[in-house]
Amino acid sequence: MSNLFGITKKDLEEYFLGIGQKKFKATQVYEWIYQKRVFSIDLFSNIKKEVRDQLKQNFDTSFIEIVEKQEDELTKKYLFRLHDHEFIEAVVMMHDYGVSICISSQVGCNMGCKFCESGRLKKVRNLEAYEMVEQILAIEKDAGVRISSVVIMGIGEPLDNYDEVVRFISIINDAKGIQIGARHITVSTCGLVPKIYELSSLPIQINLAISFHAPNDELRSKLMPVNKVYSIKELIEAISYYLQVTSRRVTIEYVMLNNVNDSVEAAKELASLFKGMNIYVNLIPYNETNHLEFARSSKNKIHRFYDTLKQEGINVTIRKEFGTNIDAACGQLRGRRNK
Ligand code: SAH
Repeated sequence: MSNLFGITKKDLEEYFLGIGQKKFKATQVYEWIYQKRVFSIDLFSNIKKEVRDQLKQNFDTSFIEIVEKQEDELTKKYLFRLHDHEFIEAVVMMHDYGVSICISSQVGCNMGCKFCESGRLKKVRNLEAYEMVEQILAIEKDAGVRISSVVIMGIGEPLDNYDEVVRFISIINDAKGIQIGARHITVSTCGLVPKIYELSSLPIQINLAISFHAPNDELRSKLMPVNKVYSIKELIEAISYYLQVTSRRVTIEYVMLNNVNDSVEAAKELASLFKGMNIYVNLIPYNETNHLEFARSSKNKIHRFYDTLKQEGINVTIRKEFGTNIDAACGQLRGRRNK
């Protein structure tokens, strides 16, 4: 049985047509769920009881469960338990421009980036679309906020769960759904090249962020095993294609690891890769984890790296930090829970 919170409006319309009902019922269901925030089919009062009974037979409305919460002034981090007792995390951040949420797309991750906490625990399974939608619904309810932007940057590699992630995007972007605009949805990937090509033809033009983290294949392959499959050259070709097809700016994420990738030479080498491309580099202060071989670059070094990129004509920002006091580095809550 599929979960009601993971079905696109179009599929719900098909469903209603299939049981001899008007497809407008799908809009009504979407309004109950996403506008009125009523999650129980019994309460969909403008839908006849017999149709509601049929809905109940065909759709499940179970919810993921909040089991732990950590918060500081601007950040709340949630640990959820799924129906099969697996755990995932999401973080909500209050910005001056609105509220953003960082959600997980898989239970664990197989990409194996050396500095990342999430990858310590291998992928158990993909999340289904409803489990991504429910991270938003549950947090909005618990925190009493309306989320204005969504980044798929929590546990997991979203492009390794392509179909469900695309379904999720379609649900939250729907005009009768949570109404998150395409420009407020970001997918972050370690660089699954074929999927970047696929993503470029998505009708909903979302933001793409690439976890880059190193200016050459030698270092990138050491830090990120995926680079042994898709080299920097192939990745940049895919990014260029994405830029050309979508006319969107792509974000290049670069986590600052002390004495690993943070030299002036590294900044120059990075700049040379992206000359003339419509990208910007987001420098991420490393959240220190149990990977003791990695430490955060000093503020000075981060600024020196920033200045060098600027001088080389690259747009660059330094990520504002949220939640360093509450283990918000992704995978930390789940990591503790699974010990
Ligand atoms: N798999 C996707 C999305 C999840 S990781 C991806 O690779 O983009 C989200 C981002 O956090 C990536 O850029 C990742 O490299 C970065 N990251 C992982 N561990 C981190 C840490 N301890 N501190 C700062 N950033 C980290």
